Amino acid sequence: MKRVVIVGGGYAGVALARHLDAAHEVVLVEQRERFAHVVAGLRAIAGASGGRQLLLPYSEVLQRGTVLHAAATAVRDGGVEVAGKWMPADAVAIATGSSYPSPIKPEGSDLAGYLLGLDAAAEAVSRSASIVVAGAGAVGVELAAEIRHAHPGRRVTLIGRRLIPGPYRHALRRRLHRKLTDLGVTVLEDSLIQDAAGAPAAPSATYSPGQRVRTTSGIEVDGEVWFTAHGARPVTDLLPQETLDASGRVTVDEHLRIRGSRTLFAVGDITDVPEPKTAANAERQAAVAAQVIADLLAGREPRTHYTPSRYAVLAVPLGPRDGATQLPLLGHPIVGAAFTRRIKGQDLLLTRYRTTLRARA
Ligand SMILES: Cc1cc2nc3c(=O)[nH]c(=O)nc-3n(C[C@H](O)[C@H](O)[C@H](O)COP(=O)(O)OP(=O)(O)OC[C@H]3O[C@@H](n4cnc5c(N)ncnc54)[C@H](O)[C@@H]3O)c2cc1C
Repeated sequence: MKRVVIVGGGYAGVALARHLDAAHEVVLVEQRERFAHVVAGLRAIAGASGGRQLLLPYSEVLQRGTVLHAAATAVRDGGVEVAGKWMPADAVAIATGSSYPSPIKPEGSDLAGYLLGLDAAAEAVSRSASIVVAGAGAVGVELAAEIRHAHPGRRVTLIGRRLIPGPYRHALRRRLHRKLTDLGVTVLEDSLIQDAAGAPAAPSATYSPGQRVRTTSGIEVDGEVWFTAHGARPVTDLLPQETLDASGRVTVDEHLRIRGSRTLFAVGDITDVPEPKTAANAERQAAVAAQVIADLLAGREPRTHYTPSRYAVLAVPLGPRDGATQLPLLGHPIVGAAFTRRIKGQDLLLTRYRTTLRARA
């Protein structure tokens, strides 16, 4: 049986490992002891759910393959280095994902720190009268709404360049803007935080409780608690510089192979595939990579290739009951609260990923 080593057991790596598990010897190398379902972390930050339930065990995810809890230190055509040992492989896939400012995602393998960060954030939110969320993409929008929903008395301000940037319809933005305003969130668009010299502040900038900042729209904003909801960065430190594009993502061909290699694949947030970096797209990539890997290992030319998603889909819950979704259908219809609640908002996909990980109740 041919061996496939997958580095990174996030949304992409888990999907790929599950596709290949039945017919190949799969080793999933994952630094964390548990799968972190970060998508649902925003509700924990708002204090409306616990963080611990978001950490799902890897013990049942594969029926034949192995999950190895360690950080890979090198990847090449032909194998992976883990804890100083070379692990040969017939195919390797790298799915090391992206990092995000704390407390939105865990740092490296530190899940205890992630839980502490979620608890500390929830505690700070519960004590404060005013909260600022910097970054108006889907993460910032959802976070602002979760906080305001859990704490209707708080002043919540959402600031950013544009609500929900990316290939989405203005109708989605308008709908979300109206719903956020109705919920009581102050939305400031065209508003980037300026540093002391008047330039847009770096994503890594940190803000102190009570800090007052000036934005590029000339408005001054203050908050007792600040969250940074932008600045995702691809985790590609295992890959040589020449395989990366200007934004640090790894360049892949239409078969999701790292350019210039034959048996080395990449899937998920680390790739330069021109489409929004989402778990949904990471999983679509994993399905195609699995077919290509199966062909490669059977000695066939690949019979399929990856096409970036044509119809952008985005579900943006505004707390457990409200929200809006752009559907991946012709004309990109926008639907509202009932649909968004059913497909994501009610538990932020926790049940779905418990099923994926085969986590027992
Ligand atoms: C708050 C939030 C909400 C979101 N909501 C949605 C949503 O509703 N729908 C949606 O489709 N997308 C959503 N996304 C985006 C989605 O989470 C990402 O697109 C997704 O995580 C990408 O999956 P990935 O497997 O590529 O990377 P990741 O999920 O980042 O996983 C990478 C994995 O690799 C591991 N790893 C890294 N380096 C090593 C190493 N050297 N050795 C071993 N393991 C390593 C990490 O520990 C991690 O487990 C959301 C993101 C955030 C932050």
